[in-house]
Amino acid sequence: MFSKVLNYNIFNKSKNELIKYITNLKKIHIISGNPEVLYSGLYDNSIFQGCSEENSVIIPDGIGVVIASKIAKNPVKEKIAGIEVMDEIIKLCEREGKGIYLLGAKQELLDECKIRLRDKYKGLNIVGSHNGYFDMDNCEDILQDIKNSQPHAIFVAMGCPRQEKFINKYMSDLPASIYMGVGGSFDVIAGKVNRAPRWMINLGLEWLYRVSKEPWRIKRLGVIPKLLLKVIYNTYIIKQKVM
Ligand code: UDP
Repeated sequence: MFSKVLNYNIFNKSKNELIKYITNLKKIHIISGNPEVLYSGLYDNSIFQGCSEENSVIIPDGIGVVIASKIAKNPVKEKIAGIEVMDEIIKLCEREGKGIYLLGAKQELLDECKIRLRDKYKGLNIVGSHNGYFDMDNCEDILQDIKNSQPHAIFVAMGCPRQEKFINKYMSDLPASIYMGVGGSFDVIAGKVNRAPRWMINLGLEWLYRVSKEPWRIKRLGVIPKLLLKVIYNTYIIKQKVM
């Protein structure tokens, strides 16, 4: 069910199998394993620890990670986009009458995101929300709000590594079952940024679309070759030395 890439266990079944897998667990942290998260974890122990917890599942969210798994000779089945997993969890919560909590993004985008979600999923219960600009070490009011509202799922859209750090730090104190860092997904749902057209997603070119819309992202792409080089080094150089 998992492919080993640089000491990370990456989920290697389909999106539907992931949904089945998570619904059977009491508490789960879904990590959108894009190259940025995985590379940060190599140098930031708190992120790596969070990825390695028993109740964490890393999904291969990005073509860079799919390629990395092939180089590591443990290929994952397919790319699983975090925003699509979020969508499936929302549908599940809507069907089963379970609440969700939205944490992250700027206030006006968060408000728009809630309006659009309520419009799209008529039966959805958004039990609470808070923007993503607060002091993570002093946020008792937000934690209390989450405890009071008893969500089934919490989506944290504060970018990497802030969202992972928040979840790692507070997950054990909070009552929800599903915790997921969703990056810029609230901005996408609010309509501020669009996802790439389906043909680009299918060709693994979503990153190119995002860079064309937000050119400052080009700097962040540098992490993909760095991650791949690490995987090549670990797969071919270190293993050969051991042999
Ligand atoms: N953000 C936040 N708090 C912060 C920094 C960022 O809530 O302190 C939000 C930001 O408004 C945006 C999201 O986090 O909605 C980050 O999106 P980004 O596009 O960087 O994430 P990606 O999809 O690339 O992981």
